[in-house]
Amino acid sequence: MKNFEIITLFPELFPGPLGVSIFAKSLNKFWSMKTHDLRTYGIGNKKVVDDAVFSGLPGMLIRPDVVMNCMQNINFTGKKIFLSPRGTLLTQKKVESLILEHDNFLLLCGRYEGVDQRAINYYDFEEISIGNYVIAGGESAAFVLLESLIRKIPGVVGNDGSFENESFVNDEISEDRYTRPAKWSVDNKIIEVDQILLSGDHAKIQEYQKNSRKKIKD
Ligand code: SAH
Repeated sequence: MKNFEIITLFPELFPGPLGVSIFAKSLNKFWSMKTHDLRTYGIGNKKVVDDAVFSGLPGMLIRPDVVMNCMQNINFTGKKIFLSPRGTLLTQKKVESLILEHDNFLLLCGRYEGVDQRAINYYDFEEISIGNYVIAGGESAAFVLLESLIRKIPGVVGNDGSFENESFVNDEISEDRYTRPAKWSVDNKIIEVDQILLSGDHAKIQEYQKNSRKKIKD
């Protein structure tokens, strides 16, 4: 059983995409999820969680003492991850090592301009980025990370064979793929799949697939 805890200012966003399909089916069977509402750890009556960035930079940051209030209350042990555009880029290799090495995950979702760096360092959050672009909050990044991790938990994806040919295994992205109808009528045209794929000749099919795979560009 893998456990995922999420610190967020918007717990209502969860389970989101994790509430359907293989995720819904495997929830509380192979994995569990719990959200912590960062707002409840805010300062004073108004539950303030943010303040202006020092050194005149524009914008607001989540305060370290607010993160502390939360961390002290939830008393988590396991792998801590802060979703951050400054982090190391998430790759399939990283996904696989994370799910292999850890059972308990704590994901911290930033908002505004992010989180005071002292809190990230003090609580030893590893910073992970989902790509070299900026989104508005860590929650969507957390979904990307969670989906990639949860689908690798044994038992979650029914047919384990589907992993063998998957993209990013062997530094390749999967081949072009086709299904029925073999002759597809569209706008007065017929588009057919390559006869090789219907030939039953496994050697030729493999060769065809190999040629349509793409190499990962770093
Ligand atoms: N001003 C910051 C971006 C803040 S975006 C900067 O220039 O770097 C607000 C929050 O969204 C971040 O704290 C982080 O939790 C999340 N976020 C934004 N882009 C992300 C990315 N590429 N990967 C992971 N999290 C991201």
